[in-house]
Amino acid sequence: MQWQGRRESGNIEDRRGMGGMGVGLPVGGGVGGLVLLLLFSWLTGTNPLDLISTTSAPQDQSVGTTGVRDKDPQAQFIAVVLADNEDTWRDVFSKRRQAYMPPVLVLFDGATQSGCGVGRSEVGPFYCPADRKVYLDLSFFRELDQRFGAPGDFAQAYVVAHELGHHIQNLMGTTDRVRSNEDSVRVELQADCYAGVWGHYAAQRNVLEPGDAEEGLAAASAVGDDRLQEMSGRAVNPDSFTHGSSQQRMEWFTRGFRSGNVSDCDTFR
Ligand SMILES: [Zn+2]
Repeated sequence: MQWQGRRESGNIEDRRGMGGMGVGLPVGGGVGGLVLLLLFSWLTGTNPLDLISTTSAPQDQSVGTTGVRDKDPQAQFIAVVLADNEDTWRDVFSKRRQAYMPPVLVLFDGATQSGCGVGRSEVGPFYCPADRKVYLDLSFFRELDQRFGAPGDFAQAYVVAHELGHHIQNLMGTTDRVRSNEDSVRVELQADCYAGVWGHYAAQRNVLEPGDAEEGLAAASAVGDDRLQEMSGRAVNPDSFTHGSSQQRMEWFTRGFRSGNVSDCDTFR
């Protein structure tokens, strides 16, 4: 995918390097902030608790949307993918005469606080509907490459676009329709289809390179439930699928990719 020199989204909260201290801190400033606060209280004789009560902010405001702080290529790539998704969905929504509200993407390592509880990198990237943020530990992409055998930048872009697909569902009210395991599969496949819709628009912008679509398909296939179950040494059991089989995931991604049409992504029909 061609991405260098393109617009990076500013809707990124870069919590990397906070040493897991993004979890449950009362003041937004990390350990350093806390030490400074105590030092300040000690110097001025004020009660630190008074200061905390006036300066404390909800966790999700402690960092703010600063964009990528460390200008490493991996994070910059994600910021470009996010910007590309913003352009796509703004377009799609405006055609439907709706306003698009872009989500925030949180970069973290290890663990961090989310509106859906503590997010840990072991669970992989996820979207939290409560705070409308996508949580991503970049180490997942190493897993995707080495463990799941899906390398390439477009494979990573697909993962991000899939999570952003859950945001689209949140805006469209689809998330509320989930009542069973089967519904959960439908939601996941729809997010794959929405990732495909983004891919369609990216192709129209001429930013895809040969092999990109295949990389996306490989990633969709690699994270299918049947493949994950096989890899974990369990027998494949469709009843326990929560994301869909590799075949299904590839099919729905392709569907969105071909037409670029949101209405072709009705997995509930
Ligand atoms: Zn998902």
